[in-house]
Amino acid sequence: MTVLLFDIDGTLLHAGGAGQAAMELALAEEFDRREKVHGIPTAGRTDRAISADLFKFHDLALTDENIEKFKRAYFQRLPHALQNLGGAVLPGVPDLLSALSGDVHWLLGLLTGNFAEGAALKLRHFGLNEHFGFGAYGDLHVERNDVATIAWSETQRRRPLALPEEVWVIGDTPADIACGRAIGAKTLAVATGYYTLDQLKICEPDFLCADLADTEAILDVFRGALPKMAK
Ligand SMILES: [Mg+2]
Repeated sequence: MTVLLFDIDGTLLHAGGAGQAAMELALAEEFDRREKVHGIPTAGRTDRAISADLFKFHDLALTDENIEKFKRAYFQRLPHALQNLGGAVLPGVPDLLSALSGDVHWLLGLLTGNFAEGAALKLRHFGLNEHFGFGAYGDLHVERNDVATIAWSETQRRRPLALPEEVWVIGDTPADIACGRAIGAKTLAVATGYYTLDQLKICEPDFLCADLADTEAILDVFRGALPKMAK
């Protein structure tokens, strides 16, 4: 049995900037903060970390009450932003997930910086939600490594005999590779997000590819046969 923990943005799909747009709209309409945001990176980071930076940028108090209000406002606006901004599922993802979902050999979960509800809204919008039985999300933690720790304990709850080396973390950023390594998992990096093959190669993932389009090759990787990496 092999456990596959997938990142969402840049790995399974491109949301077309919907997450950022919905967050900015939430801040404008619920908190009257309309200044154009700049200098806040999002790739590979948790929504908790991004929110903290947004609050600081807008000089908003980072209270539990404000965070809850912000999350509610964001979730209300995200479906509309997803409709309007024309994101897409990334190449090969539906075929790969279908191949994995039909087989008890695999256990599929999410390891994402998204808020849990944001993750569900994005996956539902693109018809991918049914594939994932569990996940670890970016609601509480600033550091992605802490999210990976949760993903690993959620894995152990479901598969008490699982070993870290039977786990793959699949993502599009150096942070995905680092957090996979932090829990002892294998890592597959895919260059369909913000980072190029060369930038990801430096991080030394166990496997690196340009995209997930070649279903059989990716399945071979997860089965333990490591074909040649993308150049
Ligand atoms: Mg990502």
